[in-house]
Amino acid sequence: MVSLLTSATACAETAPAPLVRNDKIDIEYREPRHPIFAYYTDPDDPAQTADHEVNVKTYKRYTAIMERLKSRQVLEEFSQFLAPVKLPIALKLRAQQCGEVNAFYDPSDSSINLCYEFVADIEDRAPRAATPEGITRDEVIIGQIVGTLLHEGGHAISNLLRLPVLGREEDTADQIAAFVMLQFGRAVARTLIKGETYGWNQRQRTQSRFWGPHSTALQRQHTFLCLAYGSDPEGFEDFVAKFRWLPKARAENCATEYKQIQHAFRETIVPHLDLTLVDKVRKRPWLRSTDVK
Ligand SMILES: [Zn+2]
Repeated sequence: MVSLLTSATACAETAPAPLVRNDKIDIEYREPRHPIFAYYTDPDDPAQTADHEVNVKTYKRYTAIMERLKSRQVLEEFSQFLAPVKLPIALKLRAQQCGEVNAFYDPSDSSINLCYEFVADIEDRAPRAATPEGITRDEVIIGQIVGTLLHEGGHAISNLLRLPVLGREEDTADQIAAFVMLQFGRAVARTLIKGETYGWNQRQRTQSRFWGPHSTALQRQHTFLCLAYGSDPEGFEDFVAKFRWLPKARAENCATEYKQIQHAFRETIVPHLDLTLVDKVRKRPWLRSTDVK
């Protein structure tokens, strides 16, 4: 199987489906900054030179990540989810070096930012071989990048459409991300949900701050699993019965949880969508056959 992020050659084999345009969405892949411009002032200082060499390696890695994201048109593909939204002002989708492992929506310039550091971190954590549940490295990478972008897209939509938010906005953003993942058929849903939920499971030790604005990593994992199971119990039965990632006690109510989100989505977001474009986007094969197991 060829990965979303390692398929430069596969791009040549498969002509990408034409993009649905939204003139209010701008895309930018910002070049990482070469460390020589940042601070490297004294080549005779061995400590500075050693640091510099490490930073040059990092620079090369981020440049390679940028090239892979570009060649796989990750931001362009992601823009398809947002293309039907009647945006009141321009929204920027940006990939960049941030100085931290992160992805975020910035309301000060209406931008969704995917940091090269974040992509590198996902690549570093992804399993080399398939897990006992059959989750592949590629699914982990694709699921987490798409899941994260959709989550930030949820923040962008809440902000730009001035949506009323009851509950925490971080939970709303997760619910929007999960709901959208589930609208493109079972194969796409399984690929994304598997990758995203594996990622949350992996982060349970580092992202479990009870005082934070986000739910804990394990709660987030179960939000995605529950909505997936609620939308398609047959398609996600293995996560309950076989792998036991989703306890039966929660699973029983997941259809209701899914319907609640669906209702909220229809009431708050759908009125802001161009439904002809929604149709076009849904027909677009946005994960290639090689990306989906
Ligand atoms: Zn968030």
